[in-house]
Amino acid sequence: MGLLCYSSRRIVTPKGVRSGALVVDGERIRDVVASADVPPGAACEDFGNSVLLPGLVDSHVHINEPGRADWGGFRTVTQAAAAGGYTRLVDMPLNCIPATTNLAALGVKRQAAQAKCYADWAAWGGVVQGNAHEIESLAEAGVLGFKCFLVHPGIDEFTMVTGADLLAALPHVARTGLPLLVHAELPGPIAEATKQLHNADWRVYRTYLDSRPEQAELQAIELMLRLCREFGFRLHIVHLATARAIDLFRAARTEGLPVTVETCPHYLHLEAERIVDGATPCKCAPPIRDRKNREKLWDALREGVIDMVVTDHSPCPPAMKNLQQGNFQSAWGGVASLSLALPIVWTEASSRGFALNDIACWMSEKPAQLAGCEAHAGRLVPGVDANFVVFDADAEFTVAEDSLHQGQAVSPYLGEKLRGVVKRTYLRGSVVFDQGQFPAEPMGREFSSRRCRAGTSARHCRGIE
Ligand SMILES: [Zn+2]
Repeated sequence: MGLLCYSSRRIVTPKGVRSGALVVDGERIRDVVASADVPPGAACEDFGNSVLLPGLVDSHVHINEPGRADWGGFRTVTQAAAAGGYTRLVDMPLNCIPATTNLAALGVKRQAAQAKCYADWAAWGGVVQGNAHEIESLAEAGVLGFKCFLVHPGIDEFTMVTGADLLAALPHVARTGLPLLVHAELPGPIAEATKQLHNADWRVYRTYLDSRPEQAELQAIELMLRLCREFGFRLHIVHLATARAIDLFRAARTEGLPVTVETCPHYLHLEAERIVDGATPCKCAPPIRDRKNREKLWDALREGVIDMVVTDHSPCPPAMKNLQQGNFQSAWGGVASLSLALPIVWTEASSRGFALNDIACWMSEKPAQLAGCEAHAGRLVPGVDANFVVFDADAEFTVAEDSLHQGQAVSPYLGEKLRGVVKRTYLRGSVVFDQGQFPAEPMGREFSSRRCRAGTSARHCRGIE
């Protein structure tokens, strides 16, 4: 196949938004050039005023297969991803059965992924009670890092870790050089708060919000920062919800601790004041907090204290959201938003004066760095995979069930008017999503740091596929 060329007046590169063309050679980007410099003979397609963004990277996705494909498995989750402009996903080690906490489970996961993926994917491994001895072999087998919970995760196959479990696991994690992603809420403050709520009405969002106080997040983050200082592993805090933790992260950065932070579209868009009684599609943990808190999360993105925005895409069958009773205590916690995250974040970001480059940084470049694949993804530069999104940044649409593409019609965003439409998504040079359709057979494959060997440094492992 000869060179292909995709021109636009708005190509989002690390050096800014420019007019010109992406030159694609097979599965890779050959170059980003001015229109006058398109190689002669290249077949060209002009996207005019539509934006070309780097394919988005989501380092926080729950692909519930094997075991719970009916919640959302490889096919439906990666279709939602392609529809949302995502080309690389990293799968959380839980909600699938078996959880990805040992080599056998990783093998079953890989088997389950065969011929179903519309995006490239990789696995995080789990750190749970009693699996410290599995950590380094999981790293060697190609997981990109590890995930643990400091609180019960809502399912029983994946155990939360206590202080003693962490002391056993952290030396192994540190030796791999890979990041440890932490669900940072401690059970103590949650149990204490819940005790006060025994007569409360669980249809009311405020009840759920009060049951998961900011202290649960703050104490967990303080604990993990102490352990990061002591053991020297790379710490990543997932789905930060409370802006009161920003000071802790700012101080940790100043100190030089290797810590990164993510938040999610729902924390940046929704607000507790507007979650009506019984609206369990909005349930997630930690909970969506108030408007003032949300604005401080945006300030932290502006400052760079929060590094990235990832979805925590966590689908479930509609029945598990208890939509009839609207009970926040018994409803499953999780929001699925891969297909909508880009318009959600762009709607909010553009109204606050952010630019397309900020979107590319938070939703592609930084998650790629966390996953250690920044040499192959995350930016539109020569040599990386030809993963890109054709995005009409000015169009508006109203979220309907057919905009979800996620297999389950549960979403807190139904009926909302959002800005920005994903028109087409390219994965390694091929169209995987086009105007609502998935025109090709699934071609997504695993990417990993498979050649990472115990004893090689993290830096050495990164970028090798
Ligand atoms: Zn999650």
